Amino acid sequence: MLVEIEATRNKGGVTLIAAPIRAAIDFALPPRCPACGAIVSDDDAFCEPCWSKLDFVVGPACASCGLPFELDRGEDALCAACLAERPPHDGVRAAVAYGPVARAVVLKLKHGGRIGMARVIGRYLARIAPAEADALLVPVPLHRWRIWRRGFNQSALLAREVARRTGQEVRHDLIERRKRTPMLGGLGRTARARTLRGAFAVPSEKRAVLKGRTVLLVDDVYTSGATAGACARVLKRAGAARVVVLCWARVLHDSVDDAAGFGDGSD
Ligand SMILES: [Zn+2]
Ligand SMILES: [Zn+2]
Repeated sequence: MLVEIEATRNKGGVTLIAAPIRAAIDFALPPRCPACGAIVSDDDAFCEPCWSKLDFVVGPACASCGLPFELDRGEDALCAACLAERPPHDGVRAAVAYGPVARAVVLKLKHGGRIGMARVIGRYLARIAPAEADALLVPVPLHRWRIWRRGFNQSALLAREVARRTGQEVRHDLIERRKRTPMLGGLGRTARARTLRGAFAVPSEKRAVLKGRTVLLVDDVYTSGATAGACARVLKRAGAARVVVLCWARVLHDSVDDAAGFGDGSD
Protein backbone atom coordinates (compact mmCIF):
# COMPACT_ATOMS: atom_id res chain seq x y z
CA MET A 1 0.00 0.00 0.00
CA LEU A 2 2.72 2.45 1.01
CA VAL A 3 4.64 1.63 -2.11
CA GLU A 4 1.58 2.21 -4.25
CA ILE A 5 0.96 5.56 -2.66
CA GLU A 6 4.56 6.57 -3.07
CA ALA A 7 4.40 5.60 -6.71
CA THR A 8 1.26 7.66 -7.15
CA ARG A 9 2.80 10.70 -5.50
CA ASN A 10 5.88 10.33 -7.65
CA LYS A 11 4.04 10.84 -10.91
CA GLY A 12 5.15 14.20 -12.23
CA GLY A 13 2.38 14.85 -14.70
CA VAL A 14 -0.85 15.74 -12.94
CA THR A 15 -3.89 15.17 -15.11
CA LEU A 16 -7.31 16.63 -14.49
CA ILE A 17 -8.55 13.33 -13.17
CA ALA A 18 -5.49 12.55 -11.11
CA ALA A 19 -5.19 15.98 -9.49
CA PRO A 20 -7.98 15.61 -6.91
CA ILE A 21 -6.80 12.10 -6.04
CA ARG A 22 -3.26 13.32 -5.67
CA ALA A 23 -4.39 16.20 -3.50
CA ALA A 24 -6.41 13.82 -1.36
CA ILE A 25 -3.42 11.55 -0.89
CA ASP A 26 -1.15 14.48 -0.08
CA PHE A 27 -3.71 15.66 2.43
CA ALA A 28 -4.06 12.24 3.98
CA LEU A 29 -0.32 11.60 4.01
CA PRO A 30 1.79 14.67 4.62
CA PRO A 31 5.44 14.34 3.59
CA ARG A 32 7.58 12.70 6.21
CA CYS A 33 11.28 12.77 6.99
CA PRO A 34 12.83 9.75 5.23
CA ALA A 35 14.91 8.91 8.29
CA CYS A 36 12.71 9.41 11.37
CA GLY A 37 9.22 9.83 9.93
CA ALA A 38 8.60 13.30 11.42
CA ILE A 39 6.24 15.43 9.35
CA VAL A 40 8.13 17.83 7.10
CA SER A 41 7.06 20.55 4.67
CA ASP A 42 8.45 19.13 1.43
CA ASP A 43 8.49 15.73 -0.25
CA ASP A 44 11.71 13.78 0.33
CA ALA A 45 13.11 16.44 2.68
CA PHE A 46 14.83 15.55 5.94
CA CYS A 47 13.64 17.14 9.19
CA GLU A 48 15.98 19.66 10.85
CA PRO A 49 17.48 17.30 13.47
CA CYS A 50 18.12 14.52 10.91
CA TRP A 51 19.51 16.96 8.36
CA SER A 52 21.97 18.31 10.91
CA LYS A 53 23.16 14.75 11.63
CA LEU A 54 23.88 13.97 7.97
CA ASP A 55 27.61 14.23 7.43
CA PHE A 56 28.07 15.25 3.80
CA VAL A 57 31.35 14.17 2.30
CA VAL A 58 33.04 17.38 1.17
CA GLY A 59 36.48 18.94 1.42
CA PRO A 60 40.00 17.53 1.10
CA ALA A 61 40.21 13.84 0.23
CA CYS A 62 42.51 11.05 -0.92
CA ALA A 63 43.40 11.60 -4.58
CA SER A 64 42.81 7.94 -5.33
CA CYS A 65 39.82 6.68 -3.35
CA GLY A 66 38.20 9.92 -2.20
CA LEU A 67 38.50 9.16 1.53
CA PRO A 68 37.97 12.51 3.27
CA PHE A 69 40.90 13.95 5.24
CA GLU A 70 40.47 16.07 8.33
CA LEU A 71 43.29 18.35 7.17
CA ASP A 72 44.18 19.39 3.66
CA ARG A 73 47.25 17.36 2.70
CA GLY A 74 47.49 18.67 -0.84
CA GLU A 75 45.87 17.67 -4.10
CA ASP A 76 47.87 14.51 -4.77
CA ALA A 77 47.87 13.14 -1.22
CA LEU A 78 46.91 9.49 -0.77
CA CYS A 79 45.39 7.76 2.26
CA ALA A 80 47.31 4.97 3.99
CA ALA A 81 45.31 2.21 2.31
CA CYS A 82 45.91 3.61 -1.19
CA LEU A 83 49.60 4.14 -0.42
CA ALA A 84 49.84 0.45 0.44
CA GLU A 85 47.82 -0.68 -2.59
CA ARG A 86 45.87 1.35 -5.12
CA PRO A 87 42.24 0.21 -5.39
CA PRO A 88 41.04 -1.31 -8.68
CA HIS A 89 38.48 1.48 -9.07
CA ASP A 90 39.11 5.16 -9.81
CA GLY A 91 37.64 6.73 -6.73
CA VAL A 92 34.52 6.73 -4.61
CA ARG A 93 31.93 9.46 -4.67
CA ALA A 94 29.81 9.14 -1.55
CA ALA A 95 27.02 11.52 -0.63
CA VAL A 96 27.36 11.11 3.12
CA ALA A 97 29.49 9.44 5.75
CA TYR A 98 27.83 6.34 7.17
CA GLY A 99 25.95 7.25 10.36
CA PRO A 100 22.57 6.74 12.06
CA VAL A 101 20.54 8.85 9.63
CA ALA A 102 22.20 7.43 6.50
CA ARG A 103 21.69 3.96 7.96
CA ALA A 104 18.00 4.52 8.68
CA VAL A 105 17.33 5.46 5.06
CA VAL A 106 19.19 2.43 3.69
CA LEU A 107 17.44 0.11 6.14
CA LYS A 108 14.04 1.31 4.99
CA LEU A 109 14.99 0.88 1.35
CA LYS A 110 16.73 -2.44 1.62
CA HIS A 111 15.01 -4.34 4.36
CA GLY A 112 11.78 -2.37 4.75
CA GLY A 113 10.92 -2.47 1.06
CA ARG A 114 10.35 1.30 1.01
CA ILE A 115 11.42 1.80 -2.57
CA GLY A 116 10.51 5.50 -2.40
CA MET A 117 13.78 5.90 -0.46
CA ALA A 118 15.60 5.37 -3.75
CA ARG A 119 14.19 8.68 -4.90
CA VAL A 120 15.54 10.43 -1.80
CA ILE A 121 19.00 8.93 -2.22
CA GLY A 122 18.99 9.29 -6.01
CA ARG A 123 18.65 13.03 -5.70
CA TYR A 124 21.93 13.24 -3.79
CA LEU A 125 23.71 10.76 -6.04
CA ALA A 126 22.78 12.72 -9.15
CA ARG A 127 24.44 15.80 -7.63
CA ILE A 128 27.77 14.08 -7.03
CA ALA A 129 27.83 11.90 -10.16
CA PRO A 130 30.59 12.85 -12.62
CA ALA A 131 28.94 14.92 -15.34
CA GLU A 132 29.91 12.76 -18.29
CA ALA A 133 26.99 12.34 -20.62
CA ASP A 134 28.24 9.04 -22.06
CA ALA A 135 29.15 7.43 -18.72
CA LEU A 136 27.31 4.17 -18.04
CA LEU A 137 25.47 3.67 -14.74
CA VAL A 138 26.03 0.08 -13.66
CA PRO A 139 24.41 -1.12 -10.41
CA VAL A 140 26.32 -3.63 -8.28
CA PRO A 141 24.40 -6.81 -9.14
CA LEU A 142 22.69 -9.02 -6.59
CA HIS A 143 22.65 -12.75 -6.83
CA ARG A 144 19.37 -13.88 -8.37
CA TRP A 145 18.33 -15.67 -5.18
CA ARG A 146 18.69 -12.44 -3.26
CA ILE A 147 16.58 -10.58 -5.81
CA TRP A 148 13.99 -13.31 -5.63
CA ARG A 149 13.80 -12.95 -1.84
CA ARG A 150 13.87 -9.16 -1.67
CA GLY A 151 11.99 -8.51 -4.86
CA PHE A 152 14.37 -5.85 -6.12
CA ASN A 153 17.99 -4.78 -6.29
CA GLN A 154 18.32 -1.55 -4.31
CA SER A 155 21.38 -0.47 -6.32
CA ALA A 156 19.41 -0.85 -9.54
CA LEU A 157 16.68 1.41 -8.13
CA LEU A 158 19.32 4.00 -7.21
CA ALA A 159 20.89 3.83 -10.67
CA ARG A 160 17.48 4.36 -12.25
CA GLU A 161 16.89 7.45 -10.12
CA VAL A 162 20.27 8.90 -11.06
CA ALA A 163 19.59 8.22 -14.75
CA ARG A 164 16.25 9.99 -14.51
CA ARG A 165 18.05 13.12 -13.36
CA THR A 166 21.31 13.03 -15.34
CA GLY A 167 20.17 11.38 -18.56
CA GLN A 168 23.01 8.85 -18.32
CA GLU A 169 22.30 5.31 -19.46
CA VAL A 170 21.72 2.46 -16.99
CA ARG A 171 23.04 -0.98 -17.96
CA HIS A 172 22.03 -4.02 -15.94
CA ASP A 173 23.53 -6.52 -18.35
CA LEU A 174 27.22 -5.65 -18.21
CA ILE A 175 28.12 -7.45 -15.02
CA GLU A 176 26.72 -10.65 -13.53
CA ARG A 177 26.83 -12.04 -10.06
CA ARG A 178 27.84 -15.65 -10.49
CA LYS A 179 28.35 -16.59 -6.88
CA ARG A 180 26.41 -16.00 -3.70
CA THR A 181 28.78 -14.58 -1.14
CA PRO A 182 28.41 -14.64 2.64
CA MET A 183 28.66 -11.50 4.78
CA LEU A 184 32.12 -10.02 4.61
CA GLY A 185 31.93 -8.18 7.93
CA GLY A 186 34.60 -9.40 10.31
CA LEU A 187 36.74 -10.89 7.53
CA GLY A 188 40.22 -9.57 6.85
CA ARG A 189 41.29 -8.16 3.52
CA THR A 190 42.69 -11.42 2.15
CA ALA A 191 39.67 -13.42 3.24
CA ARG A 192 37.31 -10.89 1.63
CA ALA A 193 39.23 -11.08 -1.63
CA ARG A 194 39.17 -14.88 -1.53
CA THR A 195 35.42 -14.93 -0.85
CA LEU A 196 34.73 -12.62 -3.78
CA ARG A 197 36.97 -14.41 -6.25
CA GLY A 198 34.88 -15.37 -9.27
CA ALA A 199 31.78 -13.70 -7.83
CA PHE A 200 31.41 -11.20 -10.68
CA ALA A 201 31.87 -11.54 -14.42
CA VAL A 202 31.27 -9.52 -17.57
CA PRO A 203 29.52 -11.63 -20.24
CA SER A 204 31.98 -11.89 -23.13
CA GLU A 205 29.46 -10.52 -25.65
CA LYS A 206 29.20 -7.30 -23.61
CA ARG A 207 32.87 -6.40 -23.75
CA ALA A 208 32.40 -4.24 -26.85
CA VAL A 209 29.95 -2.00 -24.96
CA LEU A 210 32.48 -1.34 -22.20
CA LYS A 211 35.47 -0.59 -24.38
CA GLY A 212 36.96 2.78 -23.42
CA ARG A 213 33.89 3.82 -21.40
CA THR A 214 33.55 5.42 -17.99
CA VAL A 215 31.44 3.30 -15.66
CA LEU A 216 29.67 4.75 -12.63
CA LEU A 217 29.31 1.73 -10.37
CA VAL A 218 26.27 2.32 -8.17
CA ASP A 219 26.00 0.88 -4.66
CA ASP A 220 24.16 1.77 -1.46
CA VAL A 221 26.93 1.61 1.13
CA TYR A 222 30.69 1.46 0.59
CA THR A 223 32.20 -0.46 3.46
CA SER A 224 35.63 -2.02 2.91
CA GLY A 225 35.56 -1.56 -0.84
CA ALA A 226 36.01 -5.28 -1.47
CA THR A 227 32.77 -5.70 -3.45
CA ALA A 228 33.21 -2.51 -5.48
CA GLY A 229 36.83 -3.45 -6.08
CA ALA A 230 35.88 -6.91 -7.35
CA CYS A 231 33.34 -5.35 -9.74
CA ALA A 232 35.80 -2.68 -10.91
CA ARG A 233 38.43 -5.31 -11.62
CA VAL A 234 36.22 -7.33 -13.99
CA LEU A 235 34.79 -4.20 -15.65
CA LYS A 236 38.28 -2.90 -16.38
CA ARG A 237 39.52 -6.27 -17.53
CA ALA A 238 36.60 -6.22 -19.96
CA GLY A 239 37.68 -2.87 -21.38
CA ALA A 240 36.20 -0.08 -19.22
CA ALA A 241 38.57 2.91 -19.13
CA ARG A 242 37.44 4.18 -15.74
CA VAL A 243 35.26 2.90 -12.93
CA VAL A 244 34.04 5.45 -10.39
CA VAL A 245 32.00 4.18 -7.44
CA LEU A 246 28.86 6.18 -6.74
CA CYS A 247 27.26 5.47 -3.38
CA TRP A 248 24.96 6.92 -0.78
CA ALA A 249 27.08 6.34 2.33
CA ARG A 250 30.70 5.52 2.98
CA VAL A 251 31.92 3.90 6.16
CA LEU A 252 34.82 6.04 7.30
CA HIS A 253 36.06 4.05 10.28
CA ASP A 254 36.75 0.35 10.44
CA SER A 255 35.25 0.30 13.91
CA VAL A 256 31.73 0.72 12.54
CA ASP A 257 30.78 -2.95 12.96
CA ASP A 258 27.23 -1.88 12.67
CA ALA A 259 27.78 -1.42 8.94
CA ALA A 260 28.62 -5.08 8.49
CA GLY A 261 25.08 -5.82 7.34
CA PHE A 262 25.34 -3.33 4.51
CA GLY A 263 27.21 -2.93 1.29
CA ASP A 264 30.05 -5.34 0.97
CA GLY A 265 29.04 -8.90 1.05
CA SER A 266 25.63 -8.42 2.54
CA ASP A 267 24.36 -9.10 -0.93
ZN1 LIG B 1 14.02 13.19 10.74
ZN1 LIG C 1 42.65 6.39 -0.61
